[in-house]
Amino acid sequence: MADEFPTGSVWLVGAGPGDPDLLTRKAERLLRTATIVFYDALVGAGVLALIPASVRQVPVGKRAGRHSKEQGTINDLLVAAALAGERVVRLKGGDPSIFGRSMEECSALVQAGVQVRICPGVTAASAAAAAASVSLSLRGLARRVQFATAHKRGAAPLDLDWAALADPHCTTVFYMGRSAAAEISRNLQAAGLPGATPVLLACDVSLESERLLHTRLDLLHIAVAGFSADQPTLILVGEALALKNGPAMPAFDAGVLDGSICGVPSRTA
Ligand code: SAH
Repeated sequence: MADEFPTGSVWLVGAGPGDPDLLTRKAERLLRTATIVFYDALVGAGVLALIPASVRQVPVGKRAGRHSKEQGTINDLLVAAALAGERVVRLKGGDPSIFGRSMEECSALVQAGVQVRICPGVTAASAAAAAASVSLSLRGLARRVQFATAHKRGAAPLDLDWAALADPHCTTVFYMGRSAAAEISRNLQAAGLPGATPVLLACDVSLESERLLHTRLDLLHIAVAGFSADQPTLILVGEALALKNGPAMPAFDAGVLDGSICGVPSRTA
């Protein structure tokens, strides 16, 4: 695959949500052909295990509240490795084009005269919908799908267009929203979305530790309390999420307020 991956070039590769079986064949091939791999904290251990021992693995992990390398440092590392003649894979959780800061890395590489290409991955929202046996779009109920980042910067309120996010005919997926759950619930309701709107909480999707929980918008802030701030969690909001065709899943409603049901692992439910 010399043409696909010349020395001194970089591939931004989507690692999917964690399960190595959700990696594309192309991603796996690139991981085997690389000479060095820079990977994020959210890349699954099973994916890293596919990288041959001869390939250098460098963690540049970003994870909420934990020390990680600055974006500028990561850009510099990628450029330096490529200019040194390595075949560089920059491995990112999910899909590189979704909240992955991929364009900052691409720009730095292009400016340095380095060839960079992108290999897509399964984004967490797609994997969560599949795990919960729901569809993100749904004829008549959800004719639009939107992905939003709810990443909190300190105590500042989220700077989001709540009127657009509160579209009742849309499925809205919040990435990085665990610590903003109460704010999301409050603002969507203030913008007109009914408190009974179905919500799906999805944590560690596609991994052994996966947890899925159905709840409703006005209970979101309580339901989320059982989810660790440490694990990647998605908040999906919209009527389409109520129509599930798969196995039974734990539900969190007004009758179950002690939070214990939040601990039920979905795979044993
Ligand atoms: N590029 C990634 C998203 C990076 S932002 C993608 O396409 O999936 C990081 C956020 O993604 C996490 O805070 C979480 O909200 C979500 N996420 C990533 N992997 C996840 C997983 N396995 N389960 C649940 N949420 C996940």
